[in-house]
Amino acid sequence: MAKREMRKSLKWDIDNLFKSPETAEAEFQQAIKRRKLDDGTSSTPPRVRSDPRDALKPKLSLHLTRLGDGHRLDYLANLIHYCIFGSKSIQKPRWATISQHRYLLQTLVVRVNVEDNFFATTNLKFLNEFFDRHWLELGADISDRRLFWNSLMNVRLDLKEQIKRKTDRMQKTFDLLGKFDRSHFVLTTEQMAERNFPFPGEEGIVATKMRYKKITHSSPLYSVDCEMCETTHANRELTRISLIDEKQNTILDTLVKPRGDITDYVTRYSGITAEMMEGVTTTLEDVQRAIQNLLPPDAILVGHSLEHDLGAMKMTHPFCLDVCHSLNYTNNVFENRNSLKSLTEMFLGEQIQTEYGHCSYEDAWAALRLAQLKIQEGIVFGVASYGWKYSQYREEQKLKNGDGEILKLTQNSAAAPIPCTGCLGPTVVGCTVVNCRCRFVAGPAQCVACCVRNLVSEEGDFDWRETLEVDLEMERVTSPIENYVKKDKMKSVLMGFEAPEVLEKMPEMGRKIHLKLPSSFPTYSSFIDNVASEMLNDSAIFIEIDRKKVEPLPRSSPEDDEGEVVDNSEALNEILEKLVAATTKNAAIMMIFSSPSKNTLFKNIK
Ligand SMILES: [Zn+2]
Ligand SMILES: [Zn+2]
Repeated sequence: MAKREMRKSLKWDIDNLFKSPETAEAEFQQAIKRRKLDDGTSSTPPRVRSDPRDALKPKLSLHLTRLGDGHRLDYLANLIHYCIFGSKSIQKPRWATISQHRYLLQTLVVRVNVEDNFFATTNLKFLNEFFDRHWLELGADISDRRLFWNSLMNVRLDLKEQIKRKTDRMQKTFDLLGKFDRSHFVLTTEQMAERNFPFPGEEGIVATKMRYKKITHSSPLYSVDCEMCETTHANRELTRISLIDEKQNTILDTLVKPRGDITDYVTRYSGITAEMMEGVTTTLEDVQRAIQNLLPPDAILVGHSLEHDLGAMKMTHPFCLDVCHSLNYTNNVFENRNSLKSLTEMFLGEQIQTEYGHCSYEDAWAALRLAQLKIQEGIVFGVASYGWKYSQYREEQKLKNGDGEILKLTQNSAAAPIPCTGCLGPTVVGCTVVNCRCRFVAGPAQCVACCVRNLVSEEGDFDWRETLEVDLEMERVTSPIENYVKKDKMKSVLMGFEAPEVLEKMPEMGRKIHLKLPSSFPTYSSFIDNVASEMLNDSAIFIEIDRKKVEPLPRSSPEDDEGEVVDNSEALNEILEKLVAATTKNAAIMMIFSSPSKNTLFKNIK
């Protein structure tokens, strides 16, 4: 009995470990509520009795600091889709929360196309009253009405679904092409953007090549690692870089004189000392030119948290295999990276970054070995969130290799560093790590200075910067809204806007998507009357109103008309009021006033 209790409490602890902050908060609130109820039955009744209906009323709050620059249309569409379908099928928006979402019965989205000076010249009584001060300015991308409707009609897949589709697709190609197609382990442009990799065109960033070549199954791996020191110029500046090839030989290994004076050598992490830096004249620009010369146009750059290395090198490269992305034996692939040290211990059974110090060759070597193992084993290997299990792997390794070591490394004998064939100068860094691996491999034939001077670099056939935009356009992961509507018996959408090119992509309208074209009604007010009378059962209503086309209300006193431009703001006011009046209770109302240069969102819950 006691055992069972213990197991239960242990399970509770474990569950709690994996609980999202939202769930934890909700449970906390529930616990408080239960407690309050308990108190009520005992003796003292609560002094203030709140309206029980208030607790069931959804509330929409925005966190504007999380609304970054750009991508505002994406954010708005995400919020609207979340209002309609909820968190079961939609990624929760980061910039908004809706409490009591399940009581949200309807979502009304009205886009009003207006002129730039609309709010300066027009005062809509209903807007001021109903929305109070709940409005905000949105990004310029909303002005494009075709884009606007397109993103409302195509729902961005939630993260899990995106990953699932992606891995399914990747595994399929993987099975088809065999194990050696390295291109599948390279980060996508989106992943690189998410992780803040340097991109071409950014200030101070140099591309590793002018022109690249498409990668293939035989594209070579090059592993890189940088050591940084703190200087007067920047928080972290490049002071040592090691680049190695697939055979673990050093291609480039040099100390770099930073622009600023070194304020902290952070020797414990960098392995760099003041003595080592004495007389170093190689600059960052030298290193950049040497790398441009050394890397072939289809090189796959390998590393651990490569964005930091590329940041220090102030370089950008399109084909990156990052082992902290490809391997993650703990469960949370998005939050926690496994350190290079722990990955090396777990998967290679080797020690790096020991008390003997740090060496960038050694880190590059470890990343290379991990990358090679990953390419050999496949997409799912080493990633806990894809269902891979370390314990199982360990068992299999034991069966294969006997107890103890996971993988054995064969080491060459220590080689004396060969001087540069050009200037007889040193070609590698005099590493301070005891018995370091960097001494057991072949070094480059030339030093950095000679390499920049002598080598002619091979170039590929495309400019990455040019292809980047096309690439980005391709990888949008969305699914038409009709798929979401079909999945959920309770949902249907009423569409009252004119966008043939958007609607063409909805092959099945059926009973779940009702289409009402404003142009098929004699007047705007008859269109709105019709929508208002039929929208009660729809879970979402999308309406577009062209301010210019709204007919003004008939005048009571004809003399007002003389010589003046007819004002239709009263009529517009009435239309908006009518639409909101026709919604159910607990409806999310969003009105977007869009002009070529300004977009204002009003939001409220009725
Ligand atoms: Zn070393
Ligand atoms: Zn030289």
